[in-house]
Amino acid sequence: MSSESSPRSGPPDFVRDQVRRDVDAGSHGGRVQLRFPPEPNGYLHIGHAKSICLNFGVADEFGGSCTLRMDDTNPETERADFVAGIEEDVRWLGFRWDGPTRYASDYFPQLYAWAELLVERGLAYVDDQDAETISAQRGGFTEPGVDSPYRDRPVEENLDLLRRMRAGEFPDGARVLRARIDMAHPNPQLRDPVLYRIRHAAHHRTGTQWCIYPTYDWAHGQSDALEGTTHSVCTLEFDAHRPLYEWFLDHLPIPADRPHQYEFARLNVTHTVLSKRRLSALVEGGHVDGWDDPRMPTLRGMRRLGYPPEALRAFCNHIGVAKVNGTNEVELLESFVRDELNRTSTRRMAVLRPLRLVVENYPEGQVEQVEVVNNPEDPSAGTRLVPFSRELWIDRDDFLEDPPAKFYRLAPGREVRLRAAYFVRCTDVVRDTSGEVVEVRCTYDPATTGGQAPDGRKVKATIHWVSVPHAVPIEARLYDRLFTEPHPDAHEGRDPFDFLNPNSVEVVGGAWAEPSLAELAPADRVQFERVGYFCVDTNVPGVFHRTVGLRDDWAKIRGRTA
Ligand code: ATP
Ligand code: MG
Repeated sequence: MSSESSPRSGPPDFVRDQVRRDVDAGSHGGRVQLRFPPEPNGYLHIGHAKSICLNFGVADEFGGSCTLRMDDTNPETERADFVAGIEEDVRWLGFRWDGPTRYASDYFPQLYAWAELLVERGLAYVDDQDAETISAQRGGFTEPGVDSPYRDRPVEENLDLLRRMRAGEFPDGARVLRARIDMAHPNPQLRDPVLYRIRHAAHHRTGTQWCIYPTYDWAHGQSDALEGTTHSVCTLEFDAHRPLYEWFLDHLPIPADRPHQYEFARLNVTHTVLSKRRLSALVEGGHVDGWDDPRMPTLRGMRRLGYPPEALRAFCNHIGVAKVNGTNEVELLESFVRDELNRTSTRRMAVLRPLRLVVENYPEGQVEQVEVVNNPEDPSAGTRLVPFSRELWIDRDDFLEDPPAKFYRLAPGREVRLRAAYFVRCTDVVRDTSGEVVEVRCTYDPATTGGQAPDGRKVKATIHWVSVPHAVPIEARLYDRLFTEPHPDAHEGRDPFDFLNPNSVEVVGGAWAEPSLAELAPADRVQFERVGYFCVDTNVPGVFHRTVGLRDDWAKIRGRTA
């Protein structure tokens, strides 16, 4: 991988500035350790890519380390196949984590021991109220919360109840363990948050060992501390949780060298949704064909669509890390994809909507191999031979019987270049009984070998073609936005799924491609000349996903040469 096209590190930002200051000040003994902590309740999406690029990127740049930790505290929604998929996606994006994959569930025994410790210190209590009551007592930003009637339970009783919760004596929801902080605290996060809830559910790693599970809040900061994380980087919504995480660490026997949390803005992208809850609803509701559907903003969906990991990294580094939430245009992301593909993908000829072109003066049965450049952007990609014969497929869009001004492609009497082959001039058309043109007739100029006229005459258009007897059949899938609205989540009182695009995929069967396409392997990426970038499906041979079209309106905006 060239470092120019696939940067692993990003531009300066407030996280990097902070880490730099800490390293210079010798904090944490000069150590830099980050982590990427997904919950395995779904596969990763482009928003996670931003977090991955930041965490692993900072670790790389400062010679530190980055761990991968599954935040697996909700047995009902988490699955082992999501864990495996997350690992695969992080690797695909180009990053390696330090040590084995960690799990919050590895820390369940320690977290439980610490819960008993808080109880013994009078800093936690068992509450017999149900979730709704507890939530109703939390108050608001301007009114304080209400103390639970169980708040002053004696330590011994709390300890006994907690142990019996753990032993499975009570049904789901019967009791919770809460921290005993301050129901009037100005920050509602510190109003006696729940630490443990009862769930008689099997966990994908710990099985039925536990029937009480820690909340995310109780598990997250301590997991970071247990792993030796120095910088806990997370998204802005956890800003208000930071004082709670610090309160926990203050009251537990944790070494002074504890993590500090920094919050950055989540990534949002137009014309899609990025919460796993919604993505999972798209899958469950059958709106897409799975988490790896090429229309999904998941890493596996984008991979199947043909997005190169280098392009995702370049995009994440370009948008940078800030403290204000916003939404990035999907066209910007596509522009990075196109850039990378332009550099790296070989060109091939394919005709999606075929129209037969017969070269009347080309000898019947003759075949010649014409040499075609594989990638004009990359001379090292070389050339290939493509068979040319009397009958060719051209694209329907490249012929018009009655062309308007500015249409320079094939038309009656008009001469055009067949890419890398010859000049041809249209002589006639053949119609079916309904009058539709089903065949175009032409003559070629044998002197124009290689698509060059020795007399220097010019043509205004070059079109692509495929030899009929040599063509291989393919199916092309052309994608449009999954949601018609740029911000499907931002319409008050409307379900984002109301804006699902009913025409987000068009399946084009009966397409033809040059014979070399049969040699491509699953997931290979190519440019179909003049049509777009395509990727071979990983499951079905002969199916090509259009990754992105050729036109880039963003290149100029991004200040590069188009
Ligand atoms: P989701 O709403 O998609 O479920 P989440 O934050 O609940 O998001 P996690 O699996 O808990 O998903 O996230 C793992 C890490 O990725 C967290 O550190 C989280 O902050 C980060 N992350 C998740 N979504 C985004 C996003 N859109 N932009 C940037 N970082 C994100
Ligand atoms: Mg989450």
